[in-house]
Amino acid sequence: MKARFCAVKKTIIVVGGGLAGLVTANILARAGIACTVIEKKEYPFHRVCGEYVSNETLPFLKSLGLFPEELNPIQINRFQLTSVNGKSAELPLGLGGFGISRFSFDQFLYQKAKSNGAEFLLKTEVDSLHFTGDGFEIRTRDKQMEADIVVGTFGKRSKLDVSLNRDFIHQRSPYVGVKYHIRTDHPSDLIALHNFQDGYCGISNIEEGKSCLCYLTHRNNIKDFGSIKEMEENALFKNPFLKSIFSNSDFLFDKPETINEVSFEIKKPVENHIMMSGDAAGMITPLCGNGMAMAIHSAKVLSELVKDFYNEKITRNKMEQKYLLQWNSLFAKRLWAGRQIQKLFGSGRASDFAVNLARQAKPVAKFLISKTHGNPF
Ligand SMILES: Cc1cc2nc3c(=O)[nH]c(=O)nc-3n(C[C@H](O)[C@H](O)[C@H](O)COP(=O)(O)OP(=O)(O)OC[C@H]3O[C@@H](n4cnc5c(N)ncnc54)[C@H](O)[C@@H]3O)c2cc1C
Repeated sequence: MKARFCAVKKTIIVVGGGLAGLVTANILARAGIACTVIEKKEYPFHRVCGEYVSNETLPFLKSLGLFPEELNPIQINRFQLTSVNGKSAELPLGLGGFGISRFSFDQFLYQKAKSNGAEFLLKTEVDSLHFTGDGFEIRTRDKQMEADIVVGTFGKRSKLDVSLNRDFIHQRSPYVGVKYHIRTDHPSDLIALHNFQDGYCGISNIEEGKSCLCYLTHRNNIKDFGSIKEMEENALFKNPFLKSIFSNSDFLFDKPETINEVSFEIKKPVENHIMMSGDAAGMITPLCGNGMAMAIHSAKVLSELVKDFYNEKITRNKMEQKYLLQWNSLFAKRLWAGRQIQKLFGSGRASDFAVNLARQAKPVAKFLISKTHGNPF
């Protein structure tokens, strides 16, 4: 009798359970491939994010049962832009998007991944990752593990970036993100982006009649004014739209969610043989409202290649090369466009120019928006 060749099963560890990690876990688990997600926090939890998800993700999410219909996401298809001094323009959003809190969306994807068979190690932070030649050693505070494949979905900035000595980590980034959930009178189909000196603030609706109010600013802005509250009253309130929102809303958090050192530097999507996805591979400026779609899309592309490597259809080298090619062709130009468009925000003159462009040259404005977005996948 012929001996049947039986491939030794590879172990897969996904580091970071945000959107990219949770989508990867769902895809692999649904294909019957065991994987463990290591996440430093415990679900559900809030994150700094504008919580507007581009509709380009809909076909994919629906095909895997990952669209959170039961949470009543809000459909959004109008875009309002205001300048630092309150000039306003409106544009249709083309494909549009949906509003859902990360608190609920991530919890939903986590439950789905668990029921699909993915394993989770929560409240566990990975301290170091080391490629040994044919696999990885992974260290947490009290565990050492081994894996054949590591998927890096640890977000925009992690202590792992430091331990891996990634290039971008040596550049300090001046951006700070601040987020609130509020109850206010905001039209449900509208996402608005309001400029203020050295920053911009998005508002759009999420589930349960709430709105997400989220802004990005320069850390010196907070330093100069002394506190977030002082900065809001003295810089954000100069835009009458922001003054009105802040003055006429119920704020639902005791204090805002904040993050520092938000970086848009170029990163490598594969580093030390770690397959990176989502913000760990490259982060788009938040004004594009496309980071979550990119996290989901890159997780899809990556997972298909990981499946092929797992099933011994391709070598590790081929998996990495193919991923780099696909990642660059799908996302590199979008990240570049996002960085250029960001220059039109956060200053009086540039934001006036952007609003005038949106009012008087709608096709150009629509073209610029389209450059930061992808096609449905
Ligand atoms: C101010 C702001 C507003 C934004 N608004 C929008 C928007 O409206 N629409 C949009 O599409 N995108 C938006 N984005 C971008 C979007 O939030 C990100 O692109 C998206 O969250 C990326 O998902 P991710 O899975 O890569 O990372 P994340 O969702 O950040 O997940 C990373 C996970 O890794 C975990 N982790 C990190 N290090 C470790 C470790 N060492 N061990 C274990 N776990 C670890 C973290 O706890 C986290 O859960 C915004 C971003 C900012 C900063």
